[in-house]
Amino acid sequence: MPMFDGDMDFENRIVAPENTFEDSEAEVSLRPKTMGEYIGQPKAKENLGVFIEAARRRGDSLDHVLLYGPPGLGKTTLATVIANEMGAGIRTTSGPAIEKPGDLAALLTNLSPGDILFIDEIHRLSRVVEEILYPAMEDYALDIIIGKGPSARSIRIELPRFTLVGATTRAGQLTAPLRDRFGVIVRLELYSPAELATIISRSAEILEIPCDGDGSLELAKRSRGTPRIANRLLKRVRDFAQVLGKGVITKEIASLALDKLEVDDLGLDSMDRRVLETIIRNYGGGPVGIETLAAVVGEEAITLEDVCEPFLMQIGFLGKTPRGRVVTRSAYEHLGLVFLERQNFEQINLLADLAENGEENTGN
Ligand code: ADP
Repeated sequence: MPMFDGDMDFENRIVAPENTFEDSEAEVSLRPKTMGEYIGQPKAKENLGVFIEAARRRGDSLDHVLLYGPPGLGKTTLATVIANEMGAGIRTTSGPAIEKPGDLAALLTNLSPGDILFIDEIHRLSRVVEEILYPAMEDYALDIIIGKGPSARSIRIELPRFTLVGATTRAGQLTAPLRDRFGVIVRLELYSPAELATIISRSAEILEIPCDGDGSLELAKRSRGTPRIANRLLKRVRDFAQVLGKGVITKEIASLALDKLEVDDLGLDSMDRRVLETIIRNYGGGPVGIETLAAVVGEEAITLEDVCEPFLMQIGFLGKTPRGRVVTRSAYEHLGLVFLERQNFEQINLLADLAENGEENTGN
């Protein structure tokens, strides 16, 4: 049974929202296929529902859609739901997988009318590839240069009317020309515990894991607003239910198992605690710049921004200021630490400095 110590690396966190091989196997069966099955995200579903219905009535393809939000919230799932609702085919790829303009051209020319092209991590497309995408999105055409030097000429290849669905964890990193070419921009939000409990109950039924209502709510509360984590916790806790209980995931079993997995009652794991404690102990609760924080914690700034921060901010433990990240009073309380107003912290530091200097003086 996997156990984790305080120094586990980021990729092995049980509450890491990124996709792992273990998740991929089960995700295929757990992925909702229709809007009806897609739980939560009411704003996104309502807007997309209108655009899909309108496009269907016109017999036209759907406008290009950009989905953004932290990993594991259901962007890939929503892309397949859109394809199903449009009765269209879907081709799936990702920004880093499209290395050359020719790779993208091959994908685009193989699409059928109305098809969805899903590009995950679209912010990681290279510039040359991105430039091929502009006329493809706008005019459904590819401009290709043939030959070199004076004999070079440009030819235009018509493409079928397709829909590009792009997904990104960081909309801010998209270039303006690319962002402007999306007609529909949808932001996915972290899920509420009630929504996650519904997702967990649905997954438990599909995977035939006995789990009662309080059990799924307990898992939901500790899943940091993310369906992928919720499904992963469900699978891990099943083992505990089989070995320590009667096979059913109850509130007690869920809580016992998650304590053993070092996921606390709010879903924080040792990495979150390390981030918060570093800001508190090294920087008096902040503000501290993200790059400095990342260096001290030993993680990439991007990982902290995408994975750690959205949840810590949503539960009100972390704030962003122009001068950097600050830890809030509720985080201190959760960690069982005494909250000191910034001013008091500075005074204590000053007294400590004075005491040190005083000693030096006596020494002389
Ligand atoms: P992303 O592409 O944003 O990283 P995914 O679409 O791969 O996230 O979602 C991860 C898993 O979470 C999916 O396999 C699916 O089982 C589950 N999931 C995501 N969103 C929902 C939802 N709204 N309702 C039910 N399950 C969901």
